[in-house]
Amino acid sequence: MKTIGLIGGMSWESSIEYYRIINEAVRAKLGGLHSAKSIMYSVDFAEVEALQRQGKWDEATELMIDAAQHVKNGGADFVIICTNTMHMMADEVQMHIQIPLLHIADATAEKIKARGLRKIGLLGTKMTMEEDFYKGRLTEKHGLEVVIPTAEEREIVHRVIFNELCMGERKKSSKEQYVSIMDHLVKHGAEGIILGCTEISLLVQGKDSQVPLFDTTKIHALAAVEYALRS
Ligand code: GLU
Repeated sequence: MKTIGLIGGMSWESSIEYYRIINEAVRAKLGGLHSAKSIMYSVDFAEVEALQRQGKWDEATELMIDAAQHVKNGGADFVIICTNTMHMMADEVQMHIQIPLLHIADATAEKIKARGLRKIGLLGTKMTMEEDFYKGRLTEKHGLEVVIPTAEEREIVHRVIFNELCMGERKKSSKEQYVSIMDHLVKHGAEGIILGCTEISLLVQGKDSQVPLFDTTKIHALAAVEYALRS
């Protein structure tokens, strides 16, 4: 079994989910007392959020490279970044480590294509919904068409992530807002919706949606297990 390197803490509310899903999957596959070999480097999310807000992307990239080197030096065979947003610097991180990085958008796109879907809604932080590092990868590398919420809706989705979900809060009113935003994406042709932020599945689940949901936390964590157990 390979050792999984996790860059976590963004936020720790979702890192816990990664850890749980990974270990449950290894137990389900191998049985008995088996659990995943892993090493997590968990950042202080307040530092990361401040760099994001101030647009200090060079410093944020340094921080991610440093975290990846820590997990590599700790014995990880490959690395996963446990947030969609911080895949903005995934290519730079990969260039600085000699072990593979499993990209969250690639793992998610494979699941979407396997379901035969082509036009997909995307929820996430404003960076993830608006910038090209994520949408561009889905369209150019995977041939998907991406639909995003309106500017006003993107503000709501982003605010709920940082002010509530990353702080451990789950509000009924926010869930209702998310459900209505997801319904709008479907009206605009989305055949499925990517929960492109690792905390969103703490708020909405499949039963809240008219179309299939692609939970990036679960998909990414399970992709890591599959890779770790591949001989
Ligand atoms: N966990 C979130 C994501 O998947 C947001 C936290 C962050 O900005 O890294 O994008």
